[in-house]
Amino acid sequence: MGEMSKSVLENESVNWLFLDLNSYFASVEQEARPELRGQPVGVVPMVTDNTVCIAASYEAKAYGVRTGTGVKDAKRLCPAIQLVEARHELYVQYHHRIVEVVETCIPVTIVASIDEMACQLMGRERPVCNALQLAAKIKRTIRERVGSTLRCSIGLAPNRFLAKVGSDMQKPDGLTVIRLSQLPANLYSLKPAALPGIGPRMNRRLEQRGIFTMEQLCALSEVQMRSLWGSVVGKRFWHWLRGEDSEEVSIEPQKSVGHQHVLPPDLRTMQGANGVGQKLLHKAAVRLRRLRMWAGGLSVHVRFTPWREGKFWEAHTRIAECQDTISLLETFHKLWKKCPTGKPVMVGVSLYDLVPDNLHTAALFPEEQKRSQLSRAIDSINAKYGSNALYLGGVHYVRDAAPTRIAFSSIPEFD
Ligand SMILES: [Mg+2]
Repeated sequence: MGEMSKSVLENESVNWLFLDLNSYFASVEQEARPELRGQPVGVVPMVTDNTVCIAASYEAKAYGVRTGTGVKDAKRLCPAIQLVEARHELYVQYHHRIVEVVETCIPVTIVASIDEMACQLMGRERPVCNALQLAAKIKRTIRERVGSTLRCSIGLAPNRFLAKVGSDMQKPDGLTVIRLSQLPANLYSLKPAALPGIGPRMNRRLEQRGIFTMEQLCALSEVQMRSLWGSVVGKRFWHWLRGEDSEEVSIEPQKSVGHQHVLPPDLRTMQGANGVGQKLLHKAAVRLRRLRMWAGGLSVHVRFTPWREGKFWEAHTRIAECQDTISLLETFHKLWKKCPTGKPVMVGVSLYDLVPDNLHTAALFPEEQKRSQLSRAIDSINAKYGSNALYLGGVHYVRDAAPTRIAFSSIPEFD
């Protein structure tokens, strides 16, 4: 490779990191039960011959056991297989821990399923060499802080779709970069059915139109893809395959940053809601600074029980452009004083009227500057030692509340 093309590759950027845990349920069982490590393991919904494996360890996969393999077949393929009953709560607990430690490396933008998450890369995370280092750090952090048997495959790519494709290209413990400059040729080794969203039915339709290879698929025009899919999905695929990132923050500037959380029963008090609200505000403020934005407004809302009556309180206020947690908390407390009392079941906060760094009017008072610097310093310490390493006193007793929630609807292997 010539010097010039080498430096072009090194300067190339990626926008998304997609992480997929390998043989997730089986690996969690091997983590929780060390006697299963190194063994062929099949996870089953119940212990009977009339069911199928919902997950298989890599040792079992070597014998041809897959998700969906019947228990009788699994025993025939691999007589030594250890069948263990699925423990969904355990997998959810591990999921939360994994998301938490990934967030010590980079914020998780989208939790796609119980074993998949996507992170949008920003600033210095984007050059390929830095993204590769970040991916290695995430893998190491999961092994060190959650479990030594947990492996993941990571894809780095110009958009989320291709990052997911990349995460599927090397297993287990994979790390794949899909570079914009090499598209679409770097996809030609894949079959069209390897793309998320091309299921057996869509694949048959492609084959009926004479499309058997990725090269043939990539040769279609935008109009042809749209008509092949019969919807805008085909058009979207055409753009994704070319590396376009429609989720780019700079193209679609963010209008607000907010979080809301359904309160667990023990925090359904005014004090509990206040504490969770403060924690949510912390999270939103970290996100705001990460986006290099300043907020011109803050809103707080609380929903009270009973749900059916739809009792809802909301308050807004405009503020001088701000991004530091202390000032935002002061505003939060002022708004909270107006909140009626009752039995709260949900609380949310939102920062709006966002202004990017380059349009922000510099702080006039040294006190404001100090607060911004302090907030940035706390962010960098938390990025290094875990998101709860440093926080302001008011949120201490609820710091484990409001975790990142799983998109339960998209967990593929749950009924
Ligand atoms: Mg997986």
